[in-house]
Amino acid sequence: MDTDIAIIGAGFGGLGAAIRLQRAGFTDYLVFDRGDDVGGTWRDNSYPGCACDVPSHLYSFSFARNPRWSNTFSGQQEIWDYLRDCVDRFGVRPRLRLRHEVQGASWDDLRQRWRLRTSGGDHTARVLICAAGPLSDPATPDIPGIDDFAGTIFHSARWQHDHDLTGRHVAVIGTGASAIQFVPRIQPTVDKLTLFQRTPAWIMPRLSRRISRVEQAVFRTVPGAQRAVRTGLYLARDTMGVGFLHPAVNRFASRLSLRTLRRQVADPQLRDKLTPRYAMGCKRVLISNDYWPSLTRPNVDVVTAGIARIVPDGLVAADEVHHRADTIILGTGFHVTDSPVVRRIRGRGGRSLGEAWTPSMHAYRGTMVAGFPNLFFLLGPNTGLGHTSVVLMIEAQLQLVLAALRHMRAKGIQAIEPTADAQRRWTERVDQKMTGTVWKTGCSSWYLDATGRNATIWPGFASSFRLRLRRFRPADHQVVGAGSTPNEPEREHADAV
Ligand code: NAP
Repeated sequence: MDTDIAIIGAGFGGLGAAIRLQRAGFTDYLVFDRGDDVGGTWRDNSYPGCACDVPSHLYSFSFARNPRWSNTFSGQQEIWDYLRDCVDRFGVRPRLRLRHEVQGASWDDLRQRWRLRTSGGDHTARVLICAAGPLSDPATPDIPGIDDFAGTIFHSARWQHDHDLTGRHVAVIGTGASAIQFVPRIQPTVDKLTLFQRTPAWIMPRLSRRISRVEQAVFRTVPGAQRAVRTGLYLARDTMGVGFLHPAVNRFASRLSLRTLRRQVADPQLRDKLTPRYAMGCKRVLISNDYWPSLTRPNVDVVTAGIARIVPDGLVAADEVHHRADTIILGTGFHVTDSPVVRRIRGRGGRSLGEAWTPSMHAYRGTMVAGFPNLFFLLGPNTGLGHTSVVLMIEAQLQLVLAALRHMRAKGIQAIEPTADAQRRWTERVDQKMTGTVWKTGCSSWYLDATGRNATIWPGFASSFRLRLRRFRPADHQVVGAGSTPNEPEREHADAV
């Protein structure tokens, strides 16, 4: 079946793309998702306590505001409901192809179309928007003996709700954004909780509160009220980016975090284990009011010795102490810089995105890739943020996608891609801006790829990214003719960044 635009993923990125395309008159599109419902990461992550650490008024589409948010930081179910509601509100449902896993997408040089192989049949498309998301494929740690474990083991993004944790001996591996949300929830239920921590997280108080019915009514009825709140949050959160660009600013926040730790954890030994000894911000700064207190309970043991191996009835730490467990929960994150989807996308000459991104991911404006005509990658390389909402980045990218599609339509262009030179200049500027920031120098983290390059974070403000993507620059692109020989750029080069 042929469609004009194929979108991979029905999470925030893919649904945002569908809505924006539809409203701009590009109505011949299909959204493919391997799941049986929309929602992406907010469908998959249903672990107890799952919630957003970005304010809801900002962690939602600017073009689909929701006056009914019940909390300043919403929970997973409410965000998932919001996305499902958007599908019906904007008439996207007929364009959804759920239970369609994209197993391969190859650019056909001669026909100038993408050929998609999906678990629900084959399709062709002129344009491919990949919105598979950087946090969609859970990472399982390569710990010796993991396959020999005799109990139940699952990842936080694939929570086994039918596995009752009451009275169990549970081992949790990982202390990232997911674990700090579910650990306080399961701690009162389990008999024994052993938390394997590799790196202690910087944690700030979670300033969350219920949004009253009066406020909701105001958002519903007073024109501009919700937009004003969103703008205020946008400016306030984006200003927090200063702390990451100029690490000295983060020292104030670090002191506040350590003061909270002192107040919440009286035991000096436990406090010592939980004290981060690296610059705040080089990993995601987490927010919680109940994580540290939950670790002070008598049924919790925090193990920092490292994991030597997993045995049928538990885990053995590097100090050879055996920790019995009948359940292991992996809060070990996702394949971010090595996402499987990139190996499935093949551009001109059959080269896979995985090959093009070895050893490091690069994309022009985080969105388009030289050698991959008519491909737009949402939340691609260097588009991640630590301080504000990634939905802002998605919307900035969608602005660029629409500008490119309109340009192609106006000029009668069938296929386009960024020039290698424009992509190189963009990457150089990103790397230059990254130099000296806490993301590069602070610690080792999943933000860094195997080469030590930070290929995930945008080293700036959401507003500066938005500014740089608001116009399509013809001079940075080349028209791709049938037979795979790209033509010359349309005009002289403009600055990429
Ligand atoms: P994560 O931040 O990548 O954390 C993974 C944790 O597992 C880290 O503590 C890591 O330790 C540990 N780990 C990984 N491999 C290990 C191993 N072999 N042995 C021992 N420990 C190991 O993953 P996540 O918590 O699932 O969060 C992922 C991302 O999802 C977040 O950064 C955030 O962007 C997003 N998220 C967002 C929200 C939200 O509220 N918006 C909520 C949850 C998640 P090291 O630190 O030492 O590597």
